[in-house]
Amino acid sequence: MNNTTATPLSATIAVDELGYYGEFGGAYIPEMLYPNVETLRRQYLGLIKESGFQDEFRRLLRDYVGRPSPLYFAPRLSAHIGAQVYLKREDLNHTGAHKINNTIGQILLARRLAKTRIIAETGAGQHGVATATVCALMGLQCIVYMGAVDMERQAPNVARMKMLGAEVRPALSGSQTLKDATNEAIRDWINNPEDTHYIIGSVVGPHPYPDMVARFQSVISEEMKSQLQEQTDRHYPDAIVACVGGGSNAAGAYYHYLNDRRVRLIAVEAAGHGVDSGESAATSILGSRGIIHGSRTLLMQTPDGQIVEPYSISAGLDYPGIGPLHAHLISSGRAEAVSITDEEALKAGFFLAQTEGIIPALETAHALAALDRLSFSADDVVVVCLSGRGDKDLDTYIGGMKDC
Ligand SMILES: *Cc1c(COP(=O)(O)O)cnc(C)c1O
Repeated sequence: MNNTTATPLSATIAVDELGYYGEFGGAYIPEMLYPNVETLRRQYLGLIKESGFQDEFRRLLRDYVGRPSPLYFAPRLSAHIGAQVYLKREDLNHTGAHKINNTIGQILLARRLAKTRIIAETGAGQHGVATATVCALMGLQCIVYMGAVDMERQAPNVARMKMLGAEVRPALSGSQTLKDATNEAIRDWINNPEDTHYIIGSVVGPHPYPDMVARFQSVISEEMKSQLQEQTDRHYPDAIVACVGGGSNAAGAYYHYLNDRRVRLIAVEAAGHGVDSGESAATSILGSRGIIHGSRTLLMQTPDGQIVEPYSISAGLDYPGIGPLHAHLISSGRAEAVSITDEEALKAGFFLAQTEGIIPALETAHALAALDRLSFSADDVVVVCLSGRGDKDLDTYIGGMKDC
């Protein structure tokens, strides 16, 4: 960064060699997975930094995804909030959300590692669709594991994945949701270490995944710097607000500002029916230290270490952990956590639709709802990461409106 702050180097937020952000992260994996993860760990930085890789990544982001995504000043929303609110329009990307930034990066990596078979896990189906999309683009075999219950709840995304040529395999164990799909994907990877790359969809999982996914998503804040410079004459905002499921859109939106203490980082989680209702996904409040999907982080668990099934109206925030970067940012005080209920998110979704003509994803609506909870001064520049579009959520919005 050209405008460096006085932050001492020791306070710099970066992952270490072993994948730790402070006490969080690492790679806690079964021994049989070790060769796959170790190969990736040794090679990912070298491959990503190659100029050939960067050229291809940038070209696809521009010509296929449609980047740069606009940074839109939202005048009517700004007047309501009492701050200068800008929306980083990840909803305008191909496939309708930020997830494609990561899957493009990982498919290029998979090709360089000479992998011919791609596997992924998906909960709501958004990451599955983004993975099936890039596999079609590259002509690679694609298998997506999805909980049988989720397949029923998210039938349109199952249809999309199939149309894109992917095979969707139901996970039939446990609660038949995301964590069971993840277990199936890990089992598959153990059995097929030679030809298979596992594309994880957020900044979660064993090192190097959280760092690798954050780097691919960091294009979000890279663009913000020049767009803010152009529109506000300053390359940094006063605050960045993003919703956190695993935390990949937030990691991308924060990335180039992590060490710039002038920028408030606000992480918005799903409170579901309320933090104390027993039906929520507010991991930073309800979570405790433990290991999930190969990384040490904060997660919702019972006193004897069983994972608590999370709940949120938005399927993308319905995850029992958070990525290790976010566990570190929140517990060190660098990021502020806000939790938003289903009802608040629905209202914020309708409000954006009717003040700015943009229907946000339900996940994103949580970030928008947080604006009402925070205090800003009138000239504060606030960027909200508009992580995705709400077409997939129309039924939920319309159904939810009766309760609002
Ligand atoms: C998947 C998803 C999220 C949550 O995932 P993160 O990794 O936390 O970004 C948020 N918004 C949208 C639109 C999504 O599809």
